[in-house]
Amino acid sequence: MVPPVLEPGMLANAKRPGLPFQFLVTGHIQDSAGRKFESAQAASLFFHRDERGFTVFQRASAIEPNSSRGTKASPASLEHTSSQLTIGGGGGGGTPPLYWKVKICVLLKVNFSDINYREDNWLSNGEKPGRGVYVKVFNTTYSYVWDGYTGDGVGTDEDGCTPVFYTHLLTNWTIFVESRAKVRGNEIFVYHHPENEWLTTWARTVDLVPGPNPVSVLWESKESTTLAAATFALYQDAGSMTNKSYEFHTGALSNQNDWDPNTSETKIYLTDEGSRRKTTIVHEMGHRLLRHRLGLNYRNDTSYNAWPPCDTVDKGPLGHSMRSKEYSVGAFNEAFGYFYAAYVWNNHHETNAKLMQLGEVIDLETGAPYLKNNCTGPNSGYGNQMDWMRFFWRFITNSYSDVTPWFSDVLGIISLGSPVGQFTASDDLESGANLWAGGIWLARFRGKATLSGID
Ligand SMILES: [Zn+2]
Repeated sequence: MVPPVLEPGMLANAKRPGLPFQFLVTGHIQDSAGRKFESAQAASLFFHRDERGFTVFQRASAIEPNSSRGTKASPASLEHTSSQLTIGGGGGGGTPPLYWKVKICVLLKVNFSDINYREDNWLSNGEKPGRGVYVKVFNTTYSYVWDGYTGDGVGTDEDGCTPVFYTHLLTNWTIFVESRAKVRGNEIFVYHHPENEWLTTWARTVDLVPGPNPVSVLWESKESTTLAAATFALYQDAGSMTNKSYEFHTGALSNQNDWDPNTSETKIYLTDEGSRRKTTIVHEMGHRLLRHRLGLNYRNDTSYNAWPPCDTVDKGPLGHSMRSKEYSVGAFNEAFGYFYAAYVWNNHHETNAKLMQLGEVIDLETGAPYLKNNCTGPNSGYGNQMDWMRFFWRFITNSYSDVTPWFSDVLGIISLGSPVGQFTASDDLESGANLWAGGIWLARFRGKATLSGID
């Protein structure tokens, strides 16, 4: 890309302090295919002084070829023009206005009730990075500066930060944060209402300082807490999937995944309490993650009702609990959701992982098989979610010296073992383990299955 040619005369205005820094640049630009475009226009040039003299910084989005010439370059071909355009050296004549580099790093306020139960991530409430959240930025004069998703923290992307802006006006910037985000290429929406798709917007007016500016939403709400947890879950692991969506409706009567006839997708429903639980939010995302991965091969069924002590004591007739006996497919699915939550909030190499579920702390590392020791038979074809959750955890984690599968291996095994039969989850997933990656994890799968009592 050949940068626009700037005529020396045009710099006269720009060098005078205090003048607006928006002006037209005429010249020509050339795209990567060698096509020349006459009369390029730059709507915004940001004047800035560095050690080499004067440098003009230019926003790519502001450059468009003059379409009156009959040829129009696509915006994509012009993206490279966001580079610096160096104009002469030394400056001379007049003092340039001062411009600062600023950027805004969004923080979300969280208030989890299930916190600090020996998990490893986010042991205190307060402010967490707004990874990938959608932001609109307006400057001192309430002129639009930028809108888009902040950095999701993956790779070199900074957690929750906008790109750098150049400005000589630092006071009274207005930042809007919406209750949606994009992390690892997947979208998250947190709606304010149980049925309507109403996003929440947090607005704040702040004075900036040069450099990064941490800007927190002013108050915690069920939406800010849920959004923070959901973005962290996908940041930790999105199951190697992109272009998927996670839609939360808060303020619902129960925590569940429901089929939406309008979109043929499931949505996540959270109660006011559930939307403030680290485990519940990510558990429901785990269901959705499996649906994304399995599509029409997704199966779940938690309708089985057993006698005490393996009945569904706290979840109603169609529900499940840590100690309920379920059809094997139901135990597997519910355990996967809790396993995903455990995976997101815990260090994968430790040997003391815990999970808080409905006020009870479950030890993920130790514990005898529950179903086989406590429930009335027949147990073949049935399962218990605590057993299955420990199985998944034991399957992928252990000390640093142990070679373990990845989360993506678990998903691969589940994919190849699906659709899972009502009574045959254990056998179906074992055959998945036999097929996945040439069966290298089959022996480990069988060993942990026996240990956890899901075989
Ligand atoms: Zn569930």
